[in-house]
Amino acid sequence: MVVAWPSGKAGACKALIPSSNLGATFMLILVATPIGNLQDISLRGLEALKEADLILAEDTRISARLLKKYGIDTPLLSFHKFNEWRREVGVIAKLKAGKRIALISDAGTPGICDPGAKLVKRCREEGIPVTAVPGCCAFTMALSLLGEEFRQFQFLGFLPKKVGKLKKIVEEILAYPGPSIAYETPHHLEKTLKMVEMLAPASQIFIARELTKIHEECVKGTPEELLEHFKKGIRGEFVLIFMGKR
Ligand code: SAM
Repeated sequence: MVVAWPSGKAGACKALIPSSNLGATFMLILVATPIGNLQDISLRGLEALKEADLILAEDTRISARLLKKYGIDTPLLSFHKFNEWRREVGVIAKLKAGKRIALISDAGTPGICDPGAKLVKRCREEGIPVTAVPGCCAFTMALSLLGEEFRQFQFLGFLPKKVGKLKKIVEEILAYPGPSIAYETPHHLEKTLKMVEMLAPASQIFIARELTKIHEECVKGTPEELLEHFKKGIRGEFVLIFMGKR
């Protein structure tokens, strides 16, 4: 059975931009924000943040910088993985009372390794319109920069920290017939590269680091070559793309 739910177009009565779907009076709007360079936000993203009654943000201090840059004074309310369950009832009540609420994360697209999914699901259950303003996402940018054609890819989010689980997932990655993409923190990059080196020393890994920022770089090589490249220190934010079985 097909389940239909209201989308942003449901009450398109006061669209500011022709053909914008941000017209409904009450709705949840997921807004993608920059992943480094504060200029990487769309005009519709700024419109949505300006027009919202409330912005839910992971770390309100981080989001305040973005809002200040664009002269947006919409109130911010913290909404992160440690309080999202607690906030949900109040947010749903506000939406039902006719409020328009935007949800942003510290960086990139809400719901991609960031809070958002549970609230979207709840809105659907309650018949509350939900829409999104697309934009930055670290893994899609890295995939564009990969420069390879492929028929399929898989996105794994953050890789497990425990050695046993990491080994299992790396084995699956190596058997996958296309690129496997993962997010990684600087503290775990070395461990991950050493695991791949142990299991498949000749395999190729693409690393996109500090995307859209001053020290942006993309490097590709075997685990050994990459460990050598980063031997002076591993800093910044990373997307890893494992080339998989061809
Ligand atoms: N929602 C975000 C998105 O749409 O990409 C992802 C949030 S997740 C909590 C944070 C991870 O995304 C980082 O640890 C890193 O792996 C990746 N990431 C975020 N910004 C990045 C950047 N500028 N360059 C490379 N990777 C980045």
